[in-house]
Amino acid sequence: MTFATLGLIEPLLRALETLGYQTPTPVQAQAIPAVLAGRDLMAAAQTGTGKTAGFALPLLQLLTMEGPKVAANSARALILCPTRELAEQVHASVAEYAQHLPLTTYAVYGGVSINPQMMKLRKGVDILVATPGRLIDLFRQNALKLNQLQTLVLDEADRMLDLGFSEELANIYRMLPKKRQTLLFSATFSDEIRQLAGQMLNDPLSIEVSPRNVAANTVKQWVVPVDKKRKPELFVHLMRKGRWKQVLVFAKTRNGVDALVDKLQGLGINADGIHGDKPQATRQRALDRFKSSDVQILVATDVAARGLDIEDLPLVVNFDLPIVAEDYIHRIGRTGRAGNTGEAISLVCADEVNMLSAIEMLTRQTLTRQMEPDFEPEHRVPDTDASGQVVKKPKKPKKPKTSGGGGGKRNLGKWVDSGDVAPAEPSIKPVRKVPVFNTGPRKKK
Ligand code: AMP
Repeated sequence: MTFATLGLIEPLLRALETLGYQTPTPVQAQAIPAVLAGRDLMAAAQTGTGKTAGFALPLLQLLTMEGPKVAANSARALILCPTRELAEQVHASVAEYAQHLPLTTYAVYGGVSINPQMMKLRKGVDILVATPGRLIDLFRQNALKLNQLQTLVLDEADRMLDLGFSEELANIYRMLPKKRQTLLFSATFSDEIRQLAGQMLNDPLSIEVSPRNVAANTVKQWVVPVDKKRKPELFVHLMRKGRWKQVLVFAKTRNGVDALVDKLQGLGINADGIHGDKPQATRQRALDRFKSSDVQILVATDVAARGLDIEDLPLVVNFDLPIVAEDYIHRIGRTGRAGNTGEAISLVCADEVNMLSAIEMLTRQTLTRQMEPDFEPEHRVPDTDASGQVVKKPKKPKKPKTSGGGGGKRNLGKWVDSGDVAPAEPSIKPVRKVPVFNTGPRKKK
């Protein structure tokens, strides 16, 4: 299948050629013809599937082929995104796809001055990418009218609800023309999303590109915080303690695979490794021996393990977290298959906190942490959670003041009033920076 066979027009094909897109991804193959045919869409697809082009390409085509010129202070299509980063990213992609088309695009979001945005909207824009709050502000200040709107895209709808935008979405819904095309993209489909879809969509076509995060539901996942240098030791400890029989282990690099395999073999453990430097035949042999249980521990890189079909693995261990969060889902998808329950354990050191946060955001869950006695890390893994937008970086402990008030041990050497010292609470507490996102969706009245 090619983009041309999906019915895209020449200026779009030219842009795709420049970008090096050769084959449509599954979400594009399904979404493009449906959107071109005017259907509403409810698509289960997350970042990395090519969903942006899936909605943007047909949208650009429809706007080019149909409808009147955009009026002042108007938009013909609106793409709603949960965050300004995503709005920027989506807008950048849309602008690239539209490079040979006579269409205008623009992105608006909060946290920056509204005036330039109001100025820019004066002439109207064909495609407006927006975050919900700023869109409402612009609408209320009469900088934007929505009566010319043909298409609404809700991108990452579940995240918009997670971030507490349900009231804003309800408000926006009231601002929209009744007759329009609506495309909803969401990684997960909770009852609330279905309710939103029921309200906003008209006889939608359902697309499910990869039920990848379904696998996660049958997999018990947790994290063991540990110092980097103690990971091999912890692995062996957990293996013996849990009497692991067949484990697929993921390491980040080829060297990492080799080092762990050497270590395990040195301890008399039946382990083998696969990575891109090994010839295909060697990889296949290791895999076959693992499948037939001649090898107990198979250590792999993500690339080597891609597409591995091993049925019903009881356990996956992330010796290192993947650099790309999506790979975490690929990895744990190798256990808990076909309704079986599986386990996925991640050994996480302080360096990997950004990756942990990205995984939690992608999978929309905060992974349980379980300290292993005697392996508690010296370098604490900072707190993370599923809202993930801001990673709480490890705070550099402030040097307690050597003079003046405040509490802490330093005061012990000088005279202090007993009331000045806070005995129980340490004076330096990690600051959680994103409580705003943890409040859950606001309920509609
Ligand atoms: P998205 O899921 O929309 O965030 O897209 C993920 C990445 O895949 C982006 O970097 C896109 O530029 C890229 N991409 C999307 N569709 C294709 C395609 N058909 N071929 C190659 N790359 C693509």
